[in-house]
Amino acid sequence: MSDETLSNLLREERRFPPPPALAAAANVTAEVYERAAADRPAFWAEQARRLSWATEPQQTLDWSNPPFAKWFADGELNVAYNCVDRHVEAGLGDRVALHFEGEPGDTRDLTYAQLKDEVCKAANALTGLGVEKGDRVAIYLPMIPEAVISMLACARIGAPHSVVFGGFSADALATRIDDADARVVITADGGWRRGKPSALKPAVDEALTRPGAGRVRSVLVVRRTGQDVDWHEGRDVWWHEVVEAQSAEHEPQAFGAEHPLFILYTSGTTGRPKGILHTSGGYLTQVSYTHHAVFDLKPETDVYWCSADIGWVTGHSYIVYGPLSNAATQVIYEGTPDTPHQGRWWEIIAKHRVSVFYTAPTAIRTCMKWGEEIPARFDLSSLRVLGSVGEPINPEAWMWYRKNIGGDRCPIVDTWWQTETGGIMISPLPGVTATKPGSAQTPMPGIAATVVDDESREVPDGAGGYLVLTEPWPGMLRTIWGDDQRYVDTYWSRFEGRYFAGDGAKKDDDGDLWLLGRVDDVMLVSGHNISTTEVESALVSHPKVAEAAVVGAADPTTGQAIVAFVILRGGATETEDLVAELRDHVGSALGAIAKPKRVLPVSELPKTRSGKIMRRLLRDVAENRELGDVTTLTDSTVMDLIQSKLPGAA
Ligand code: ATP
Ligand code: MG
Repeated sequence: MSDETLSNLLREERRFPPPPALAAAANVTAEVYERAAADRPAFWAEQARRLSWATEPQQTLDWSNPPFAKWFADGELNVAYNCVDRHVEAGLGDRVALHFEGEPGDTRDLTYAQLKDEVCKAANALTGLGVEKGDRVAIYLPMIPEAVISMLACARIGAPHSVVFGGFSADALATRIDDADARVVITADGGWRRGKPSALKPAVDEALTRPGAGRVRSVLVVRRTGQDVDWHEGRDVWWHEVVEAQSAEHEPQAFGAEHPLFILYTSGTTGRPKGILHTSGGYLTQVSYTHHAVFDLKPETDVYWCSADIGWVTGHSYIVYGPLSNAATQVIYEGTPDTPHQGRWWEIIAKHRVSVFYTAPTAIRTCMKWGEEIPARFDLSSLRVLGSVGEPINPEAWMWYRKNIGGDRCPIVDTWWQTETGGIMISPLPGVTATKPGSAQTPMPGIAATVVDDESREVPDGAGGYLVLTEPWPGMLRTIWGDDQRYVDTYWSRFEGRYFAGDGAKKDDDGDLWLLGRVDDVMLVSGHNISTTEVESALVSHPKVAEAAVVGAADPTTGQAIVAFVILRGGATETEDLVAELRDHVGSALGAIAKPKRVLPVSELPKTRSGKIMRRLLRDVAENRELGDVTTLTDSTVMDLIQSKLPGAA
């Protein structure tokens, strides 16, 4: 950004206080903020007692060598024991841990006792394949129970996992295997996507022909779709042969709290993915606490469902480690939301009486496009808390979610966090916060965040700038795998002593935080920094727009000009009048400065595999340049369609 801090254009006055009954029985109440702020390390030491430690930690935070933090460093624990065994020991063995829904309609329930047996067998199998403490294991699986079992089996034997999203290509898989130097890969023949078996094993075979990935010695293959697979004798082994033959007895060994738990590559929205390293004790403490507090989880009665893929951090923290450490009952679903029909998700919620649902703005906007009559056909009355994560949620999408999914009664928690932060950092609390559509609002208890200007000065209420985290937190990344310098440069060099998140934010007049999109995406129009999020939200507030992506394209007179790509809601047709109306709509919502120069209706937007809009590619199109790195893009044909909309574009 330039010397102008971010212009603060959007006004949102709607407020939704917590439902009184929920507030009265909430897991956490307002007093927690003050107590946590009074002594943050003490607060986190208290939360660490949620876990079972083989050796209780005496130390809390060691920040003697910033920015390399250690939390609970003299404590020892086994993460898988905390997520499974201890619940069985506490008499909860018969509780369902996972209600699995396969895309073709097959189902499987696993109780905690069954999950424990499966994790133990898989841990024995990995040990049998020569995996030792500290060895990295790559996991490339669809959303099936074996994905959860594999992660926990790795954790159980102290072998950091590196989960690679099943939709990634052989190339993406090969670079991740190489970077983490994994020697074992766990995969499947395929998974079900959009009604068809989609192969995974061939991508592994291809990846392992690449130089850097050639060191892999074993590939453990789950049979899911029954597709034919090539077989490399001596390297490939079937899960149903090797794992099923193992004993269900496995003694969990305790590891130091700072023992590496996993490496996970970021989504790649802004560029080359970074291998984020997370460790055990602090991470588990934060995901366990935040899952308890943000979703108000009552493990005896709630049915929780997070629709993320296990390949993203949301799947790690809020499908595997947070919920299972809290003994939750949850749904996991293999497939796409529109197979075999556009109401599939809502059907699953009705079937399992899901009470807490956590999804992403991209999914909500897609459902808006499909129309509200689809969720209206299902009984969603079991829901009591809704969550959002992954991108800023436009206020109108928030309102749509509240009304059409939450029946105007469920609080929405808009949770801001990153792969790097490990757990939720900024979010309303459902029993405490009067929510505001589109705002993540408040740093979690024990978390310190603020907004600063170019000179690292905190901005006053009502102003915008850069989001920073000002104190270390237990789930923070410890480094970028194999590249300490990149860790320091990327996160800790822009503002002395503060973690730079890379996102723009503003404080409203109450001091609540609003995320304004990535700093790389901020537009500079006639000397004003304007947030892509605010202009997109203004567009989405028009009744005919479901989704919008806005970029600043070089312009000889204004520096940058705003170019908007919009997806119309079902039924709306593209006309010149509508385009003019949309430009005016933004002008009247935000002021003339934010009025887009061009508005282009399109049928799809370029998104990462995790569903985030990749504005840098749209900027390439708008500026008539060759496209940058598209390897993390879901569907590269989308870009051809968009380019054809812009005459003269490359
Ligand atoms: P890369 O770092 O490789 O570009 P990425 O940032 O998309 O990829 P993630 O760690 O999955 O990878 O995403 C974190 C980012 O997602 C945040 O920095 C922020 O930009 C965005 N984000 C997540 N949740 C929210 C939210 N509730 N509101 C606004 N933005 C959010
Ligand atoms: Mg990022």
